[in-house]
Amino acid sequence: MDNLINNYVKFISENKTERLCTQTSVRIAQENGYRDINTVDKLKAGDKVYYDKMGKSLILFNIGSDDISKGMNILGAHIDSPRLDAKQNPIYEDKLYKTGIVYLNTHYYGGIKKYQWVASPLAIYGVVVKADGTKVDVAIGDDPEDPVFCISDILPHIAQEQMKKTAADFIEGEKLDAILACYPNVKKYRNPEEGKYEPGDGKKKVLQFLEDKYGIKEDDFASAELELVPAGQARFIGFDKTLVLGYGQDDRVCAYTSLIAMVEGKAGNRTNCCILADKEEVGSNGATGMNSHLLDNAVAEVVARLDIKGNPELAVRRTLANSYMLSSDVNSAFDPLNPGLYDIYNSSFLGRGVVFNKYTGARGKSGASDANPEFIAKVRGKLYESEVYFQNAELSKVDTGGGGTIARNAAEFGMNVLDCGVSVMSMHAPWEITSAFDIEQAYKCYKAFLELA
Ligand code: MN
Ligand code: MN
Repeated sequence: MDNLINNYVKFISENKTERLCTQTSVRIAQENGYRDINTVDKLKAGDKVYYDKMGKSLILFNIGSDDISKGMNILGAHIDSPRLDAKQNPIYEDKLYKTGIVYLNTHYYGGIKKYQWVASPLAIYGVVVKADGTKVDVAIGDDPEDPVFCISDILPHIAQEQMKKTAADFIEGEKLDAILACYPNVKKYRNPEEGKYEPGDGKKKVLQFLEDKYGIKEDDFASAELELVPAGQARFIGFDKTLVLGYGQDDRVCAYTSLIAMVEGKAGNRTNCCILADKEEVGSNGATGMNSHLLDNAVAEVVARLDIKGNPELAVRRTLANSYMLSSDVNSAFDPLNPGLYDIYNSSFLGRGVVFNKYTGARGKSGASDANPEFIAKVRGKLYESEVYFQNAELSKVDTGGGGTIARNAAEFGMNVLDCGVSVMSMHAPWEITSAFDIEQAYKCYKAFLELA
């Protein structure tokens, strides 16, 4: 189990975007005998394939011995996390005040508290695709040799006006721009040969650097996907090192444990499936999100390769409707510093095992996919049998807010689905907290679930 946790810490330290998660998960899948479904003509029991959607989401299948239309056992997690995305015209220089500071202009992605993203080191990851289709990978800020980037904040002594604002507009979204470089005026005093600073020189230098290092020009940012994320490795917290501090644990803590449970498992009569989805943090829209036909298209590809009698379209529908799914997503951990937010009797706690969340949603369960007790009993029974610790919880007190997961997307196909994941403290903060024990329990839970007959 120590191995699992250490590998997990390494995984989240090295895979801070959905693209990197997909890339690494494909590699892990391949090492465990999974093949790209596009390279396979026929499928039979025991076969392992993956369906890679645009390099940003991934679905794995391990074919069971039964007719697939009796349903699959599905683990569904998401691999996108809140962050700051570079805008389409991202690079600008402060010309007004001639500070020589060059910025990366960003637009935040997902639910963040903006004030948490200033005055702390950031890394840039992503791709820039040139007009000829060449793709350039960008990764700066996590190699010890690399520089990092940073968004400035106001000195407390002169922050009287800022401090009067509420946290919601303490830092404006438009001001979440990171310093890329600073080519100040003072240079001319230090070294007259360098010549006088002219407004625009800084941006020119940054663009020159990008061209030299990556072969990209300013126009190329029109077709780029660059994400600003916290720089630095995930670490253990506390003298006892029982907790993990890391970026993007919502929901990579469930994605990683689901993936490992999947690749280590062996399908029995039911086909096993593991979904690592993109776009959950912005409502699951887009071709790589679960509001799309991502899952049914992937299942249709599998069904088309199986020896199935009758109508394949009906087989796809039955496969989905008869499936069992754990929506492997995180729940908010009870925080003793903010006890009033939680119903103490229906909260999840760090170190007490994986969390069943029967329903999410807001207000009167609005938007929830409420799991059926018959299904919960089936999962619970299996966990008792496999000696997995679990707890039952809601996100918070009634009417304090709410949220949703990909459970509702799964439920649309008519399947049984239950939210089941790790509890996370300071969720959606740049650095989130989980418990190593819960991570182990999640892994054990997902392994046991895949064995459901
Ligand atoms: Mn989540
Ligand atoms: Mn989230």
